Amino acid sequence: KATPSTSLSKEELLELDQKYVWHHMSPHNPNPMVLVSGKNSTVTDIDGKNYLDGMSGLWCVNVGYGREEIAKAAAEQIQAIPYVPMSQGNVPSILLAEKLNEWLAGDYRIFYSNSGSDANEVAFKIARQYHHQNGEPLRYKFISRYRAYHGNSMGALSATGQANRKVKYEPLSSGFQHVAPPYCYRCPFGKTYGDCGIQCAKAIEDVINYEGAETIAGIIMEPVITGGGVIVPPAEYLTKVREICDKFGILLIVDEVICGFGRSGKQFGHQNFGIKPDIVTMAKGMTSAYSPLSATAVRSELYDVFKQPGADHHFRHVNTFGGNPASCAVALKNLEIIEKENLIERASYLGDELRKKLDGLLIYKNVGDIRSFGFIAGIELVEDKKSKKPASPEMVLKIITECKAQGLIIGRNGDTVPGYNNILTLSPPFTTTDEELDFIVSTLNKAFSNL
Ligand code: PMP
Repeated sequence: KATPSTSLSKEELLELDQKYVWHHMSPHNPNPMVLVSGKNSTVTDIDGKNYLDGMSGLWCVNVGYGREEIAKAAAEQIQAIPYVPMSQGNVPSILLAEKLNEWLAGDYRIFYSNSGSDANEVAFKIARQYHHQNGEPLRYKFISRYRAYHGNSMGALSATGQANRKVKYEPLSSGFQHVAPPYCYRCPFGKTYGDCGIQCAKAIEDVINYEGAETIAGIIMEPVITGGGVIVPPAEYLTKVREICDKFGILLIVDEVICGFGRSGKQFGHQNFGIKPDIVTMAKGMTSAYSPLSATAVRSELYDVFKQPGADHHFRHVNTFGGNPASCAVALKNLEIIEKENLIERASYLGDELRKKLDGLLIYKNVGDIRSFGFIAGIELVEDKKSKKPASPEMVLKIITECKAQGLIIGRNGDTVPGYNNILTLSPPFTTTDEELDFIVSTLNKAFSNL
């Protein structure tokens, strides 16, 4: 049943949708799914058809749909006080900042915003100002990877390494350099893992030297490139990046917008690699998307530089909705549910099981590579295994359409350069049952057999 209740028919709603709504991404989709309810891992459309949501929305509804406790926490907070500017304090934001420190296992100051893009913008601004006030005003550049996605705003888009998301919006912010991704399946350096000396990490050092180390403010990266096609780095890669940052006095910003909050099988994705970031950005799974909220967690030593006396030293950044009390209350309840139901262990188990089952798809000639990280998986489609030529957009769409017809939503990612958007993605809710996992894999099997 649709909420708010409406006497309009589906056809009338779609007509209004066509007339007034500008959808994200899908180019003028004449027939969008109109979803009206959800429970656990299943969403229901306006016709009553159920889908297993293999993408948790946009990699975000981690605790699954229909959590009444979260709705209640939001309603109670809105009734108590709906809004407090973050120059002041509100109780959920205080408790949440403490909880995030526990999950991060470090000493971080939490700056709240609304979206993942915002959180990254804040990270860039804090990093630049930090260096300025720390006596190194030349440091303004950021390094990120091709294929990575870091958001839609001008700075975050500048850090993004996917060409087609950027052309027509350029020129973007200056001072953003890109390096090749740690993409073993298509190694940008033509090497093979085991015999490569982790060239992808060394290449970062080269760029730093070419640019002048004294001009680099930070390196931003996700633990695993998610939206760019689930590109999982070699195990040593992030440790090497951390070492490079330390060697040159560069801040390491880890974008945990997707990998955070249990998705990786640990509280945060970087914890799988044993490194400590200087700045961590987070959103999505922070509230399981029940309400918009993001944060930039900054090591307390960096924060200290902003505490020097005089107004000149404070961080001049404000946003109206960041730290919204109801959103923070939602996040607290979300984290409580994850802890109470051991959902991180569950995500880790589900990720392992899914990976084992997905590996069976390698029998199909169009499945070139299977990659996973925690409960995230990517299936790279090719014309054939030998040439590794990316599968045609039509083939990728055929699999997605077939899965949808069978009641399974999966994602499609990669580079937005035409022809390279050839990676199917999965990131289901942590509430997914073993039977649902089997359904995901058997549906994919059917779709590949019918190609
Ligand atoms: N970083 C990463 C890794 C993301 O995947 C996204 C969104 N998909 C963002 C940042 C931007 O988040 P938002 O859409 O909330 O601005």
